[in-house]
This record gives sequence, C-alpha cells and structure tokens, in this order.
Amino acid sequence: MEKKRVAILGSTGSIGTQALDVIDEHHDKFEVEVLTSNNNADLLIQQALKFHPNSVVITNETHYKKVEEALWEEDIKVYAGQDALAQIVEMDSIDIVLTALVGYSGLKPTIHAINAKKTIALANKETLVVAGELITKLARENNVHIYPVDSEHSAIFQCLAGEFQNKIEKIYLTASGGPFRGKKKEDLLNITKEQALKHPNWDMGAKITIDSATLMNKGLEVIEAKWLFNLKPEQIDVIVHPQSIIHSLVQFEDGSMKAQMGLPDMKHPIQYALSFPYRLPSKSPRFNFLDYPNLTFEQPDKETFKNLALAYQSLEKGGNLACILNAANEVAVEAFLNDKIKFLDIAEINQKCMESIPFIQHPTYEDYVRTNDETRVFAESLIQ
Ligand code: NDP
Ligand code: MG
Repeated sequence: MEKKRVAILGSTGSIGTQALDVIDEHHDKFEVEVLTSNNNADLLIQQALKFHPNSVVITNETHYKKVEEALWEEDIKVYAGQDALAQIVEMDSIDIVLTALVGYSGLKPTIHAINAKKTIALANKETLVVAGELITKLARENNVHIYPVDSEHSAIFQCLAGEFQNKIEKIYLTASGGPFRGKKKEDLLNITKEQALKHPNWDMGAKITIDSATLMNKGLEVIEAKWLFNLKPEQIDVIVHPQSIIHSLVQFEDGSMKAQMGLPDMKHPIQYALSFPYRLPSKSPRFNFLDYPNLTFEQPDKETFKNLALAYQSLEKGGNLACILNAANEVAVEAFLNDKIKFLDIAEINQKCMESIPFIQHPTYEDYVRTNDETRVFAESLIQ
C-alpha cells in the first residue's frame, strides 16, 4: 500500500483519537496532514506536536492564539473558524479525509472534500442523514469513494467485497439495544443523563451515546445505509444483538447470508476505511468463541424507542424529512445533556418537528441549510 496522507476532522474526539492510534501503529503507511478540533485546544496542540501535520484548524476562534503560540516554532500552520475547516480539506497534499466531526457540522467540509475529489472515510453519519441524496450525487459526479467507518456499515462493506456485481436482497444492521434494552416507557420516565451515558459495549462521544440509548443512532444508521448502499427502506432491517459481536449482515438473492464479526473495537473499522482495499495487521485482542457461548437476537421495540420508527418514516417520505429529524434530535439531545428535558421528550420533540416544519420533496443545498436552521429554532421553542 502506498503511503496515504490523511486529514482528520474532529481529531480530538472518540473516533479522531482512535484514528490517531491506528496511524501511530502504522506510521509507515499513513502521514497526518491536517488535524482539527472545536474547543479542545490542549489536546489538539499535543496531537500536533506528536504527529507534525502540515496544518491544524481550531473552529472556536477564541482558542486561536493559544494554539498558534504553541505551534509557530514547529512550522505547523494554524487556522481558526468554520470556514477554515471547510477550506482546509481542499489542500493538494491530502489523499483521504476522515470526517469524525459530530452532527450537522460535518456537512459543509464533506461537500468541500468531495468537490476537491478527496476520498472520504465517513464516520460523521449525520452528513448522509441530512443530505444523503446530494452527497451521493456529488460523490458520483466527482468519482469519489465514500468508505464507511460506522461499524455496522463497515461490516456490510466488508461483506460486499468481491460481491459488488451481485444484488443485495436485504441487509440486517445489528443493534446492541443500548443501556435500556427491554425497558418500557414507564421505566424510562426518570432516566438521568448519567444512566443514559453508560453504554454497555462501546465507549463513544456523548451525542452518539445518547442516540444509542434512544435508538436514534440505529435510525440514523438505517438512513446512512440507504445512501451508502443504494437500498430501499424495506431492504434494511434492524436486529437487536446485545453482545455486539456480529457487526451486521448481508443477505443475497440466493438466500445466502454473510456476516462480519469480531470483538467490538472501533479501531478495526477505522483502520479498514483508511487502508481499503488492503488489510493491515492489528494488535487488538482476538475473539474467543468460548467467551461468547451464546449470541442472541431480538426484535427492536419501536414503540418504546419511537426514534427508530421516525427514521423509517423519514426514509419512506424522503425529501428534507431526515434533515428535520436530525436537526430536532441534535437540539433535543443537547437539551437532555443540559438537564432541560427528560429522556422521553427527545423522541416527542423529534416527532413534533417532523410534523411541523415545511416538507420539501426535492431540496437543494440551500433548502437543507434553511430546514436545519428553522427546525433548530422550532425545537428550541418547544424546550423553553
Ligand atoms: P466526539 O464528540 O467524541 O468528537 C467530536 C469531534 O468533533 C471532536 O474533535 C470535537 O472537537 C469536534 N467537533 C464537535 N463539534 C464541532 C463543531 N461544531 N465544529 C467543528 N468541530 C466540532 O464524537 P465521536 O468521535 O463519538 O463521533 C464523531 C462522529 O462519528 C459522529 O458523527 C458519530 O455519530 C460517528 N460515530 C462515532 C462512533 C464512536 O465510536 N465514537 C461510532 C460510529 C460513528 P472538541 O474535542 O474540541 O469538542
Ligand atoms: Mg454504529
């Protein structure tokens, strides 16, 4: 494999730091060109001193001086602000952009990266949820590959290697069920954020951890899968698999199923997205069958965890509905993390926004931006 030059957007987050661990383990295969963070100036500086990128971006401009002063002697360029984040991905020397930002903030830089014909390793699923049609069209026009980092989609992608000409009958996305699997609405009335932030199998950023507890994450992943693999909603099924060993499955026309499995460890899909089509060695612990004598499966409870049902509705109707759902959910999750609303209010706010914000069947980029802004204002008004 030729050495690849990588830009990591959101390098200080859960995915970003694990990506740097992968690169550290394979420094003969990867070079870090760009690192970015939003607020975490200290970690960004530490990472830059270790990996010596060409440039770093700190989006919160109030930290610019601190980062600049720490790095000016190192010949590392320092930029600040959201516009710099969108522009930095166009740098000639970048081969692959890992989008590990959280939420809607990933959309604009991803569009810039695709227009600059950079390969995308996509962790930021919200980008495909908000504007999947536009992103996949842009990628096709620019002949750009989008490799999934999300573990379920990486699993599907790995199952499809060597099968790209064969028709997919169906895919099954596995779900751990989150910390409240088996609970009913009455059990969830007084859930605290501390309880919701305790995921049984994965250690992730706060937003996706809450999304996992409400099953919104699986809903976002259903939408992500539609766009990545060009599927109809009825071809995407969700099955709860609490052990998180089978990362997802593909069923082909002949009824044969392929699954990808292993211990839950995000470094695996991150590395695969960065090294594709090659596999690189890894020191992570190996699966032992006798530690898992039972792999179990259950139907997801779409009534208690309404967000999953809302995601399917948004796929059926298309247009800007998933963009509305995403924006509402971002506001609601933040409000829940700030103790302003209760756990079950998240799905209620999402549903009210989907019912109230004007529907647009064929949105342009500007329509997505407006929909996102309008939904946020409306969702905030439901919280106050
Ligand atoms: P984190 O919250 O841990 O990290 C987010 C990163 O993005 C940080 O570097 C953060 O900077 C930066 N960031 C946050 N908001 C902004 C903004 N408005 N503008 C610019 N930069 C910003 O998130 P995760 O790593 O958990 O998740 C990243 C993405 O990957 C999400 O879309 C998530 O759904 C997806 N994903 C994550 C998985 C995981 O295991 N964590 C698994 C599968 C998908 P700072 O540190 O300064 O705040
Ligand atoms: Mg996932």
